[in-house]
Amino acid sequence: KQRTETLQANNHKHHLHPFSDNGALAQEGARVIEKAQGVYLYDSNGNKILDGMAGLWCVNIGYGRQELVDAATQQMQQLPYYNTFFKTTHPPAVRLAEKLAEIAPEHLNHAFFTSSGSECNDTVLRMVRHYWAAKEQPDKQVIISRKNAYHGSTVAGASLGGMTPMHKQGQLPIPGIVHIQQPYWYGEGGNLPADEFGIHAARALEEQILSLGEDKVAAFIAEPIQGAGGVIIPPDTYWPEIKRILAKYDILLVMDEVICGFGRTGHWFGSNYYDLQPDFMSLAKGITSGYLPLGAVMVSDKVAEVIRTSGEFNHGFTYSGHPTAAAVALANIEILQNEGIIEKARTITGPYLQQRWSELAAHPLVGETRGAGMVAALEIISDKTSRTRFDDKGTAGTLCRDFCFNNGLVMRAVGDTMIISPPLVISGQEIDELIEKAWKSLDQTAKALL
Ligand code: PLP
Repeated sequence: KQRTETLQANNHKHHLHPFSDNGALAQEGARVIEKAQGVYLYDSNGNKILDGMAGLWCVNIGYGRQELVDAATQQMQQLPYYNTFFKTTHPPAVRLAEKLAEIAPEHLNHAFFTSSGSECNDTVLRMVRHYWAAKEQPDKQVIISRKNAYHGSTVAGASLGGMTPMHKQGQLPIPGIVHIQQPYWYGEGGNLPADEFGIHAARALEEQILSLGEDKVAAFIAEPIQGAGGVIIPPDTYWPEIKRILAKYDILLVMDEVICGFGRTGHWFGSNYYDLQPDFMSLAKGITSGYLPLGAVMVSDKVAEVIRTSGEFNHGFTYSGHPTAAAVALANIEILQNEGIIEKARTITGPYLQQRWSELAAHPLVGETRGAGMVAALEIISDKTSRTRFDDKGTAGTLCRDFCFNNGLVMRAVGDTMIISPPLVISGQEIDELIEKAWKSLDQTAKALL
């Protein structure tokens, strides 16, 4: 206990936390996570916690895989670091680029490496604009994104993202980015049936293109399923209509697969799940199952051809293609392939998780449950029939999240939407435990609120 208190005290003296009210955190004391194995975290007070979020949607193969430790160790002994600037490359970067081209949707055969999802989206912004300038259409520069999207925390990432609290800090978005409606049927669908709402939400893209002028619009960026925005699963009609619109006006499609990539939907990529052929995919998180920081922008043949024939692309990072991170990514992808983890998520674990999760819809506090593959959400509401929310939006979610933590479960709250995205390797029994703890936490939340 004393050790925990010392760590907490020093933490608050010297450590500023991301996405946190650091003052409030110092009062409460941060929970100290010391180790992890499989789907479980262990804190410094000896509590065992089921990680229903796989860290931050990333530990797809679960914690404690020795193969990744070995891959990192061997690579560190051989060549811990070298760059890929100035006409040099190294085996892990080459092998990983080759592997990503093999597993990515057709035509996405070229990798540009970064260290994070945010850096991927910064890279995409510059590549998209460079592409159209090189094609002698320099006016095609505007990127259309969606409200409530999350595309990272760098200046370009947060600008592409549609979260207004992030825009308020740092005077964002930067120019040339506009945001349209998200396909959030439960929250914004009104009386429209889901399919009609899907078309309606997609047509917001066409309206925006027409109002800006198609000769001004460079690209549309979107997550296949909006994650941090609340696991927004678009109606079935949404993506086909978006596809039609982009083809009609010759606009590039950027899929931000930072969450959906590497099996989250039960397919390798959300683009496979929705049958999309994007021009770019941003990848991070699950690429190494979070064991080391790495990102990659996958670029289509069409765009790569222009990049290759238009002189120097003045962009890159010290750690682009970092050998140790790349070696760990390769070991991670091999585990996903050799153990059939994604196939199992599609055919067994995902369906079981969704079936059990949907049972929570019977709870008096739950307005809707939804999910796809290995990601799911539920909406806490005060009245089921009228879909009325609690007045102080976010309080119910925070309460529920804290009850979950105390009950030994990590579940995330986005406002009053509760989210899970567990490691893909979670067992049936562990899923049962997750549901039981979620139900108990909802009961406690109801008691506290009503
Ligand atoms: N894009 C999406 C869809 C994300 O969910 C995230 C992070 O949660 C990012 C980008 C940013 O990635 P990173 O935190 O690695 O910069």
